[in-house]
Amino acid sequence: MAVPFLKEMRLGAYLLKQKLAGRKRYPLVLMLEPLFRCNLACAGCGKIDYPDAILNRRMSVQECLEAVDECGAPMVAIPGGEPLIHKEIGEIVAGIVARKKFVSLCTNALLMEKKLHLFKPSPYLFFSVHLDGLKEHHDKSVCQEGVFDRAVSAIKAAKAKGFAVNVNCTIFDNHPAEEIAKFLDFCGELGVGVSISPGYAYERAPDQAHFLHRRNTKELFRGVFALRNGKRWNLMHSGLFLDFLAGNQEFHCTPWGMPTRNIFGWQKPCYLLGEGYTRTFKDLMETTDWDSYGTGRYEKCANCMAHCGYEPTAADAAFSNPLRAAWIALRGVRTDGPFAPEIALDDQRPAQYVFSEQVQQKLSEIRAAEARAKLEKAANAA
Ligand code: SF4
Ligand code: SF4
Repeated sequence: MAVPFLKEMRLGAYLLKQKLAGRKRYPLVLMLEPLFRCNLACAGCGKIDYPDAILNRRMSVQECLEAVDECGAPMVAIPGGEPLIHKEIGEIVAGIVARKKFVSLCTNALLMEKKLHLFKPSPYLFFSVHLDGLKEHHDKSVCQEGVFDRAVSAIKAAKAKGFAVNVNCTIFDNHPAEEIAKFLDFCGELGVGVSISPGYAYERAPDQAHFLHRRNTKELFRGVFALRNGKRWNLMHSGLFLDFLAGNQEFHCTPWGMPTRNIFGWQKPCYLLGEGYTRTFKDLMETTDWDSYGTGRYEKCANCMAHCGYEPTAADAAFSNPLRAAWIALRGVRTDGPFAPEIALDDQRPAQYVFSEQVQQKLSEIRAAEARAKLEKAANAA
């Protein structure tokens, strides 16, 4: 219990500091993607569709730690790609822990047992294992048989060695509420907390048919929470975010709450959308046209209810209105009655498609850097 308490205390103190300083926009969690290469190819993934020259790039330890310092968020999530493929992942994590920042190391767990020796248990380190459901559902979701069993084995091995472990679960529309409830029961028996979120409709994910629309998301989560029946599911979210998923809160997203740094730079505007990059975190915060993003403003945001956009909103709402948060904690998430008003989509601006242009630009940079390195090598050898 000491770990979440320490985390809550630190995050609360950080939020208070930002409020007292009068800051309007501030990061809560840095999403650090040190590479895009993965050893799986999941149907709903929108992160790995790059040419090899880009998949082979890595952020160095120094670049990762500079990003952590530059951003200043109290927590760092390391997704990818698969971070355990990165040869220096142990040093990256150790450097962040040494800064007393919480690290959520996201992994599909295929390499986890083999690489546990690279890490030391710490109140600042959590493994966040990708599990989208029970065995049959998860293996289908990640398009490979046997992954669920390996992930569960790795979770048990990590827990036995004293590591804190939770799972992250992405929900698509082919997952019935009863199955999700059984999965949450299973995670309770396994002794792991669950971070749960509807999948964002990535434009480049291979499977475009199973992303949830906002109304389906709300109905599905109401169905799941109605099956809770007093069970102690350890959902790693604020009550207000869960209440939002069930359609009871009228929230707008907070894209700067979980800023993303990857091999392209600082990503505009959020972890889910790559609509441009800046060299520094300061530039990201100052030059992004934040008001042009979010549901009702931009077509690509129409169905987003993902935790990385809305958990910071919920955290801010809980801080500004602790009574509202306490009331939900007391009565639980409402699973019937009217839904909160939905945001109108009539005035949203149309989607812009910038992916190919960004990839071309990055490839040109990589080729230019390789040509320079070749010239330098030849000059040194001469
Ligand atoms: S494990 Fe994660 S990064 Fe890898 S393909 Fe699946 S969703 Fe994408
Ligand atoms: S709604 Fe917000 S968090 Fe979601 S994709 Fe759009 S900008 Fe990002």
